[in-house]
Order: sequence, then C-alpha cells, then structure tokens
Amino acid sequence: MRGTVGEITKKGATYWNVFAHERLLEVLPDWEIKRNELEHQQKNRKAGLAGEERVLEVLRSSGLPNDCVVLSDTTLEIIPGVTIQLDALVLTPAVILIFETKQIAGRLRFVQNPAQLEKVEDGKIILSMDCPAAQFEDQRASLETWLRMRGFSVPIGGSVVFTTNPIIETIPKGLPVIKLRELRGFIAKSLQFIPVMSLQEVEILANTIRSSLSPYIPYPLFRKYGIDPERVDWGPRCDCGYLLDKISEMTWSCRPCGLRIKDPYIKTLMTWFLLRSNTITVKQFCIIFQCSRRTGVRVLNRLPLTRKGNARSTYYEIDYRQLDLFER
Ligand SMILES: [Zn+2]
Repeated sequence: MRGTVGEITKKGATYWNVFAHERLLEVLPDWEIKRNELEHQQKNRKAGLAGEERVLEVLRSSGLPNDCVVLSDTTLEIIPGVTIQLDALVLTPAVILIFETKQIAGRLRFVQNPAQLEKVEDGKIILSMDCPAAQFEDQRASLETWLRMRGFSVPIGGSVVFTTNPIIETIPKGLPVIKLRELRGFIAKSLQFIPVMSLQEVEILANTIRSSLSPYIPYPLFRKYGIDPERVDWGPRCDCGYLLDKISEMTWSCRPCGLRIKDPYIKTLMTWFLLRSNTITVKQFCIIFQCSRRTGVRVLNRLPLTRKGNARSTYYEIDYRQLDLFER
C-alpha cells in the first residue's frame, strides 16, 4: 500500500497530460493550423510539470517523519462540476500543507485591489496575472470545506512556491509566498506544531483523499481539439517521430536513426488511446501494425485493457483513470 513518506503517488494527471500532448505534436503534420498555439501551450505545461517535480524533490528529501503522507497532483471535486487541483499536499498529524507551484521568472510585484501579480521589465508592467496568493487562499478554503463535509477538522497551511527564483520587489506581510530554497525551512517549522491526529487518522485521511480523486480527463485529444483522425498515420513511430518500417512480423526499423525496434506496441497504443479513441478493435490493431489477427489478440490480451464484445466484434477499452498501469 502506498502511504509512507517518500512514496509519493505515481505519475499524476499533469504528467499524462504532458505525455499526451507530446504524442499529439509528434503525429500532427507541420501544416496543421493549430500547431503553433499547441506548441506554445505545451511549453508552459512542461514548465509547470518541471516546477511540480522540483517541489516534490525537496519534499522527498526534507526528512519528513514516517507519520506524514505526501500526495502529488491531487484533484478533488468540491461541489458537482467544481474541482480544485493541488500540486502537492503534505499530511502531517498537526497540519495539512498545500504547496502550489509557480514558474514565473524575472522581476515580480504584488499589488492590491484587485490582488494581482505583475511582471516588470525596465520599470514597465509587461504581464499582469491573478495573484497566486489569492488563488492559494481559495484552494485552502475549498479544501477546508471538502474536509469538513467528511468529518475532518485539521488546520490547513502551506504556501505558493516560486520554483524559478524570481526577484520579488516586496511580498506584502502575511502573504503565503516563498521561494523554493525556503521550502525546507517552512516544512521544518510546520512540523513543530502540536499534533491533532494520530498516525492512524492521518492514514484514514490520506485514503479518503485517494479514493475521492477526480482527475480532469481531456482524452481523446483529437475530439477535444476537433482534429480529423483520418489526417494522421497511426502506425508505430520511433522516438525521433519518424514512422517505422516493418521488416518482419516482430521487427520494425527507423530509417533516419538506423534503429531496430521489437516492441513498439505500448507507445503506439497509448498514442491511439490518448489522441483518437478509448477503444480499439482487433481489426484496427492489425491495420496499424500490419499483423495477423492472432498477434493482435495476443498483444491486446496482455495489456491492462477491458475486453468487450464477442468473436469478430471484439474490442478493447482503456480506463483513463488507470494510465499508470501502462508504465513499464
Ligand atoms: Zn528514429
């Protein structure tokens, strides 16, 4: 069972969203009009994931005692249709800590009424965004409500964490904003608070959160973006993006890289499921891999998919909530 410190939950929704969009950019032709915008969004998405990983790295190495639980990339439904996404949660017997990562570099300035964060260059405001501290307070209040409705009454603290070491002109007093290098000290201080839960109660709380996760599922992405799947060749590709040539029943090769590849199935199927459809028929599989029905059934049966239909109309379905099962 997961739960002890250091064992942070596996690859979360953010990771898979980055992975899926990498596959999207890999198969999308250069002339696709949505490409520029998608590339720009993907850059931000990857920076966000890198920031989250940096914070988790510090949490893993911050010497948390065994009665603490770290949860990453947690999405909870507050009321039907309204969710909050928490980058990192630390459950301790004394306090729950929320850490919200931000990757904004440069010179920053917090202003009030309305609460905003401004990015300044040569004395000019070049970007103005919602104040991350105000967003953090919203998340804290939402989590408090969510916990109260489930019978938990635990203080909630935490902070916004800037992972890119920006120059912050002034941080208004009391605003929950720190830089990554201050995180370790912040945690050490929080661990001195007086416990309000036993080890067992922390575990119950962790399991309540884990069993309530409600990740945002944008798949299949072609439907989300309105892209025609017929425009794309769904065959296996090399990591360089080039379509592989089949040279025998079990072997493919990449011409530019000169590589031989024996098992392109998982990556190719992940691309299909994340981009095109949550199901695949044996026939579709055989077309993609230019293989016999027997090979198709053999490969599909050993994957974490649900088999449906019967005989000739057999198809396989993925559960987007269990993408981690595909990690080798
Ligand atoms: Zn290649």
